[in-house]
Amino acid sequence: MRNKNVIRHLGYIRKEDRNKLNKHDSGVVWFTGLSASGKSTIAHHIEKKLYQEGIRVYVFDGDNIRHGLNSNLGFSDEDRQENIRRIVEVAKLFVDAGIVVLAAFITPFKEQRAYIRNQFKGMKFIEVYVKCDVDECIRRDPKGLYQKAQTGIISNYTGISAPFEEPENPDLIINTQKLSIDESIAKVIDHINKIDFF
Ligand code: ADP
Repeated sequence: MRNKNVIRHLGYIRKEDRNKLNKHDSGVVWFTGLSASGKSTIAHHIEKKLYQEGIRVYVFDGDNIRHGLNSNLGFSDEDRQENIRRIVEVAKLFVDAGIVVLAAFITPFKEQRAYIRNQFKGMKFIEVYVKCDVDECIRRDPKGLYQKAQTGIISNYTGISAPFEEPENPDLIINTQKLSIDESIAKVIDHINKIDFF
């Protein structure tokens, strides 16, 4: 609930000033897709590449954020919603601070993704669908979580016991079953350059 006695204090330095200082614009690349589809792998490689080009960039990673800021949240519908709300708010601060945010979160629901896109209105934002069949994700299972979900040790697991609604209008689709890691990274970078993201 908003407190009407809390009033924003406008600073002297705006996002535009910070973007000018950094010599690039800030914004959000939001990676959505099943667990093990490749979101983190791609995001961290892109972070390294952009960093080496002098771009201020930071990865927001589902698991890492659940260890800290959102460590008090579980996987119920309500908690998933709060998880995303907090991430979006922090990402907005990062964009205002002049940073390019690479957000890697499953974000399985259409409604969630529509909310996210809407929250970044007026800012540079692209949604990247990291596409990979659930069978292939189960085969990869880098953290052994699908196995735990299949045997019921973990409940409410996206792709097994919770739905993943396919994105209908992503800005970019990266099919990690067809592309290598290097090709996947290159395709995202190409797209970013093509649309003049910075
Ligand atoms: P997520 O962040 O979506 O849960 P991860 O990046 O943690 O997924 O794991 C993806 C796994 O898939 C890694 O083991 C990675 O090496 C493998 N992989 C295979 N092909 C690709 C690709 N084209 N892009 C990204 N990851 C890939």
